[in-house]
Amino acid sequence: RFLDPHGDFVQPITVCVRKRPMSRRENNSKNMDIITVPTADSLIVHELRLKVDLTKFLEHHKFRFDYTFDEECSNSLVYDHTARPLIRTMFEGGNATCFAYGQTGSGKTHTMGGEFCGKVQDCGTGIYAMAARDVFEEVSRPEYRELGAKITCSFFEIYGTKVFDLLHTDKPLLRVLEDGRQQVVVVGLREMPVTKVDDVLRLIELGNKERTSGQTSANAKSSRSHAVFQMALHLPDSWGPYGKCSFVDLAGNERGADTQSADRQTRLEGAEINKSLLALKECIRALSRQSSHLPFRGSKLTQVLRDSFVGGKKNKTCMIAMISPSMSCVEHTLNTLRYADRVK
Ligand code: ADP
Ligand code: MG
Repeated sequence: RFLDPHGDFVQPITVCVRKRPMSRRENNSKNMDIITVPTADSLIVHELRLKVDLTKFLEHHKFRFDYTFDEECSNSLVYDHTARPLIRTMFEGGNATCFAYGQTGSGKTHTMGGEFCGKVQDCGTGIYAMAARDVFEEVSRPEYRELGAKITCSFFEIYGTKVFDLLHTDKPLLRVLEDGRQQVVVVGLREMPVTKVDDVLRLIELGNKERTSGQTSANAKSSRSHAVFQMALHLPDSWGPYGKCSFVDLAGNERGADTQSADRQTRLEGAEINKSLLALKECIRALSRQSSHLPFRGSKLTQVLRDSFVGGKKNKTCMIAMISPSMSCVEHTLNTLRYADRVK
């Protein structure tokens, strides 16, 4: 069903949806799979609803995206149509950014490759690792070797309005500053030099450990923070990185909805996440319209990713909206799909 994706042209914004398989627990309970993916660019949500007289009927919500991936699609198929085309952007001197969006438990971390059981090969199947492989394949070509091209990695987390370095065992709090030319700097962020794929996998593993340390429940902190993994290409004579790739495992988008949550802290966190996801939508829209007004100060997330959204034909963005197939998630799923629908 999937054609060779791109040829030479990659559009500035790509929006895709990935449906994960039913989990064992969902299969065991009375839950139903209510999502069908009839073609590689469409998707239907079959929502069970009640009339006033309590009779049941199905409402079918149809959506269209650049790509829709069903539960059979592998990480590498998803990668080929989303992040892979963005690697070239980095080598052409642009900023490429790939977002994983969706409710907690929908498959964001699975897709990005942040799942870990402590073994290096465990993260080898996610987008981070596949991107690292392609980056090193490219940078080891003679023309880049002769130029003295170098790759660095950084990995940080945005929790509320705070930024923490994940490549540092103390997970220090970092400051974000903006200079007179609107350049945003995360002060003290570690940019680790890497020379092979294994180096990158180690760093991802380290960062993931820092991200999830001390967490037990599904309600863990990591679902309430955005994780940003970046690879940058440096050429000897350029000031700052020549090109950059950012992979963002976003905070669960369900918080905004549950404003009823008991404690104040959770509500404040939810409000902040909501704000950052709205700001993100506005910034991607500004990029797609090549608008001169970029509302990047709307949140910490969009502020630190400012370079990703500034106009100029070189920057490219991809959003992968993750959805859960089950009936019990229908409300969150529709929210996710509507958001993704409006991003472009
Ligand atoms: P999120 O990061 O969005 O909260 P996870 O990536 O942690 O969600 O996924 C929740 C669970 O579903 C995990 O156990 C994960 O392994 C599983 N899962 C998610 N997507 C898939 C998939 N496409 N195929 C198989 N299992 C998946
Ligand atoms: Mg996750």
